[in-house]
Amino acid sequence: MDFGEIASRVINEDYKFFEELSAAKGFSSELAYFLLDHALRPFLRCYALPYQLTVAQEDFHWEMSICPICGSPANFSRVRAEDGQRFLFCEHCFTEWRSKYLSCIYCGNTEPNTIKYLMVEGDDAHQLFVCEKCKGYLKTFDERKGRMKTDLFIAGIETVYLDLIAEEEGYTNKTENERNLN
Ligand SMILES: [Zn+2]
Ligand SMILES: [Zn+2]
Repeated sequence: MDFGEIASRVINEDYKFFEELSAAKGFSSELAYFLLDHALRPFLRCYALPYQLTVAQEDFHWEMSICPICGSPANFSRVRAEDGQRFLFCEHCFTEWRSKYLSCIYCGNTEPNTIKYLMVEGDDAHQLFVCEKCKGYLKTFDERKGRMKTDLFIAGIETVYLDLIAEEEGYTNKTENERNLN
């Protein structure tokens, strides 16, 4: 196998490539993708470090839901305690970037009545922002309601129940191809 090509296919989320490779080699494509994706993440984090200060600056504008450094789609955000600023988080390279508080990260919808948030009783820090226009959802940690600092990577894993609720309610975070990424 060409490992250079495999790394590039993982970063570009080329699921079709892994389906074909796994059919040819006789292994599970989902498991292979999962393992290779996680094997590459430490590299992506090191790669992203020199750029993160620039991305964090106030004059850096990136109104997209995909990571400005590694190109992965974001599916978690936090709302900063001090000023209510929302940051999208990339779980691949751990980069954060500013995003509007009330705007759908997938279709750009900003109509207040069509964007709402859901949460589980007794836990108002972890929220699910949903868009009625494109049926997209985004998990959010609101620092104003919970502990100040949280590990967003761990928080993403700890809140799998929010993904299940969102999917049950008919929302998705996996239809990037059909959406206009601003
Ligand atoms: Zn990234
Ligand atoms: Zn939307």
